[in-house]
Amino acid sequence: MVGGSGPVLVLGGTGPAREVARHLVDGGVPVVSSLAGRVAQPRLPVGEVRIGGFGGVDGLAAFLIGNQVSAVIDATHPFAARITANAAAACGRTGVPLVVLDRPSWEPGPGDRWVPVASLPEAATAIEDLGARRVLLTTGRQGASAFAGLDRPRFWLRAIEAPDPPLPPRCELILERGPFTLDGERTLLHELDVDLIVSKNSGGPMTTAKLTAARERGIRVIMVRRPPLPAGVPTVPDAGSAVTWLRTRRDRHPTTS
Ligand code: NAP
Repeated sequence: MVGGSGPVLVLGGTGPAREVARHLVDGGVPVVSSLAGRVAQPRLPVGEVRIGGFGGVDGLAAFLIGNQVSAVIDATHPFAARITANAAAACGRTGVPLVVLDRPSWEPGPGDRWVPVASLPEAATAIEDLGARRVLLTTGRQGASAFAGLDRPRFWLRAIEAPDPPLPPRCELILERGPFTLDGERTLLHELDVDLIVSKNSGGPMTTAKLTAARERGIRVIMVRRPPLPAGVPTVPDAGSAVTWLRTRRDRHPTTS
């Protein structure tokens, strides 16, 4: 592995990415966090931040070389597959070490009524097949158009910011940012009287309360599986392990960092 003498690049837009940045800043490690710029008022990590796409693999590779990036920690959301593929390709090309923070998926437990699907379009088909009438969409702003053709169920779509059209004809927005409490989720499911929730299998603790509340009420959850990671990329399960990975690498290659 090569890696420059400059900062660590943290690909972010998530809670774990902010945690990684916090650890590195506290440890005196130069870091640049990168956000896509999707939301108008993002939660910012500590330390230096850049916002906006790099311009594909070529742009990211040029950024890595131009800034002498010493390592990349990809702590993006598990469903942000394109930037993760780009990071793998750009790091492979430039020799900059890469690790992906791959938080464990949620697994169904006793009492859960999950319906696994592979994509948002499959989730839309499953909503129809299940004959759901009142559906809480928690899959976020992106990809909401996958449900636009469903005109029978009533939808509530929860997201940080309003999605671009098209949306289902009977759809109300709940503009909120997690984390969500169990009491809050219980109240929401009770008040809306939903009979189905749609969720990405994001993993992590910030949005699990809806799954507990759904189990308590016996509500089905359509659970969208994650896209696969690029082959051969090393992974760690959490922010602390990402920092350990970096420290271990620096101890082994002190002159390159
Ligand atoms: P994506 O589909 O994998 O990426 C699309 C393009 O957005 C990438 O090719 C890249 O543009 C740019 N991009 C994405 N993440 C970036 C980052 N951290 N820094 C700079 N550029 C980035 O990503 P996405 O699903 O749209 O997600 C965008 C961001 O939102 C990510 O940072 C992710 O962590 C966060 N997020 C996503 C979800 C989700 O469900 N997808 C949920 C929560 C948070 P260029 O090719 O021009 O470099």
